[in-house]
Amino acid sequence: MNIDAIQLYVIKMPLKSPFHTHLGTVTEREGIIVEVRDSDGIFGYGEGVAFSTPWYTEETVKTSLHILTDILIPLLKANPIEHPKEASALFQTVRRNNMAKAGLEMALWDLYAKRNLTSLASIIGGTRVKIASGVVVAADSIVHALRQIETFLSEGYQRFKIKINPSQDYSVLAEIRRHYPDLPLMADANSAYTLKDIDRLKALDDFNLLMIEQPLDVDDIVEHSILQKELATPVCLDESIVSFEDARKAIELGSCKVINIKPGRVAGLFEAKKIHDYCYERGIQVWCGGMIEYGVSKAHNIALASLPGFTLPGDISASNRFWDEDIITPEITVDNGYVTVPSQDGLGFSLNEKRMKDVLLTKKAFRF
Ligand SMILES: [Mg+2]
Repeated sequence: MNIDAIQLYVIKMPLKSPFHTHLGTVTEREGIIVEVRDSDGIFGYGEGVAFSTPWYTEETVKTSLHILTDILIPLLKANPIEHPKEASALFQTVRRNNMAKAGLEMALWDLYAKRNLTSLASIIGGTRVKIASGVVVAADSIVHALRQIETFLSEGYQRFKIKINPSQDYSVLAEIRRHYPDLPLMADANSAYTLKDIDRLKALDDFNLLMIEQPLDVDDIVEHSILQKELATPVCLDESIVSFEDARKAIELGSCKVINIKPGRVAGLFEAKKIHDYCYERGIQVWCGGMIEYGVSKAHNIALASLPGFTLPGDISASNRFWDEDIITPEITVDNGYVTVPSQDGLGFSLNEKRMKDVLLTKKAFRF
């Protein structure tokens, strides 16, 4: 692919409103934008989606920078590749650190698509021209949650996800259902429960939820298989699935009926597509989750969600869900509940240079 240079940009922006989960509150977001340039001066972009602290996975912005700077970029420099899928194989010699790998791998996909004068969506096999958009309600009180739902409904969102934990689950969901009996609603627990809470979780079958996401711990693939047999509500796995092998095991054990595929969590688009293909063949529904990310990552998610197996609305919301001004142009918009899949080459979005300058913390250049 004749890589000539790579730049890493660390950026930071405050969220428009705090994002609450039982694991903590996110009020500002650091992120890493990965820019690869080839010898013809064509650019590709990826985004590292690790958070500043390891609350979601073990990675952080600092560990990602270390792995990119000291391991992955030198590895790529020493082993020139012809296709992004070779990067995925090359990076398998490094254990985990999936978000660091994904940031670089996805930049290579964008570059590869642009070199082939094709959209990223079509080069990975996407078939949809628009994708249904869902949104996450992450409020600190039921009053705020209801207010957010009202706003998001007026903006056309097609699926609503509410963060739950054992201290508020039944009461919050009952209140939402009292106001919105037919809302396409799901719950995300981010591992707030154990199998001891099985009766609590069974009670949530009352609310006709689309699914309950990641009720048990990250390593609880076996426990989720016990839980799923007891629940009418489909279980969706998120944090538990960090590789194709995790997805295969979870499906074989009957641990879930749905998988949330986040390319950042599974080391990039190649692995994400592999999980999609496996699920598609077996009738397991998938959707694309969010990481409170910037437009570069969202644009990759849009391309991924254009694959035929993404039958459920994901967390792909508009740029204005989290940001006063995103780092891409044009910004991502939701129109009547749908996001249009770009047909331009690569990601189909450009970096907003001015906004990038405004939110830049540090940058680092690597010459090949
Ligand atoms: Mg989740």
